[in-house]
Amino acid sequence: MGEYTVRCVSDGKPVPAFSLVCPDHDSLLRADYTSKRLELKAFPGIWRFYDWLPVHGIIPEAGEGPITYKSRGLAAELGLKDLYISFSGYWPERGAHMPTCSFKDLEAAPTMQRLRERGDNSTLVVASAGNTARAFAQVASQTGQPLILFVPEGALPRMWITVEPGPVTLVGVKGDYYDAITIAEKVQSSPGYVPEGGARNIARRDGMGTVMLDAALKLGRIPQHYFQAVGSGTGGIAAWEAAMRLMRDGRFGSDLPKLHLAQNVPNAPIYFAWKCKEPDAYTAEMFDDVLFNRRPPFGIAGGVKDALEATAGDVYGICDQEAADAKRLFEQSEEIDILNAPGVAVAALEQAVETGKVLQGDIILLNITGGGVARAREDLNLYSLQPDIIVSQWEDAVKFLEEGACFR
Ligand SMILES: *Cc1c(COP(=O)(O)O)cnc(C)c1O
Repeated sequence: MGEYTVRCVSDGKPVPAFSLVCPDHDSLLRADYTSKRLELKAFPGIWRFYDWLPVHGIIPEAGEGPITYKSRGLAAELGLKDLYISFSGYWPERGAHMPTCSFKDLEAAPTMQRLRERGDNSTLVVASAGNTARAFAQVASQTGQPLILFVPEGALPRMWITVEPGPVTLVGVKGDYYDAITIAEKVQSSPGYVPEGGARNIARRDGMGTVMLDAALKLGRIPQHYFQAVGSGTGGIAAWEAAMRLMRDGRFGSDLPKLHLAQNVPNAPIYFAWKCKEPDAYTAEMFDDVLFNRRPPFGIAGGVKDALEATAGDVYGICDQEAADAKRLFEQSEEIDILNAPGVAVAALEQAVETGKVLQGDIILLNITGGGVARAREDLNLYSLQPDIIVSQWEDAVKFLEEGACFR
């Protein structure tokens, strides 16, 4: 159990287990699990999918899983008979206990476990506009693993977790998410640090893939349609990969789900690339900035384009007003608060219903990628993370870290 080989998607050749890139191709890598049949383990949260996670151990205190339930409220509003909702967030009444309230929690736990398994005491470096940083800070604080976060200054007020902060160094970056990534990349190349890898990280993708696994178990089959709001599209790739594994298992049907990926226009490079349209000018403000990634893994082998083609999928361009209305409709009909990003997915589902891309009786999975923050505030103690330094250039970050002002 827990056995796997990491292979290049382009030619299937094995590569060393902790690689993020193929030496020969511009291609994603993928875990090829020895178990072709999903056998649930008696572990908590996502760890019950241990056979299809690239780990050889678990972090029992982290790794809360997604939940899947059949919608009544929203389904009635949209006239759908078989609408299922995967909820990543905090909603204890339905059994959802993800501490930082987004599906980034699904990625952080297996990534931190894998970091442990490298055995070289590297410090993980993560650049994030918000949700990813919180998810990784939460797990690092639980396990005591050192972590360095690069977060745009504007996102600093959103940096909270639900446990006492651990060995986490928070570097605020003057500028946007793109500037944070650029500075993080400089630091990652120094000895002793490792990049988290984004879409290239198989632990991230297979952690997110548990959304599809949980849904397939609940439904007894692979859904016909999968809706998600995307920035990088990693969750879409993950859903496709999980569905391929389920197909091979044999018990969940022989068709892939159609991917319906939603972006927030005008900051929507995946949408414009898929539609072969000239992109509009980007705006500084958007409905949810976690959905803006300027360099999504679109054309790379095994990336978003391949996932869309393989599943006969589509991409939706949703404007702020549509997303805000859809978010309200969801909150009123399902009675839980959600983040702005999944509002974009709900708007795409509405469009798909209106245009006949999904039919009344189709089996649909809507991924609500984050929610329950208001609900969590009622129950949980939130600890805010304070920046250790705010930088505008990478040299300042490197100097600060070299001086060991943080934890070394
Ligand atoms: C990151 C994020 C997304 C987009 O995820 P992808 O990496 O593009 O799959 C959607 N919703 C929320 C809440 C997120 O945090």
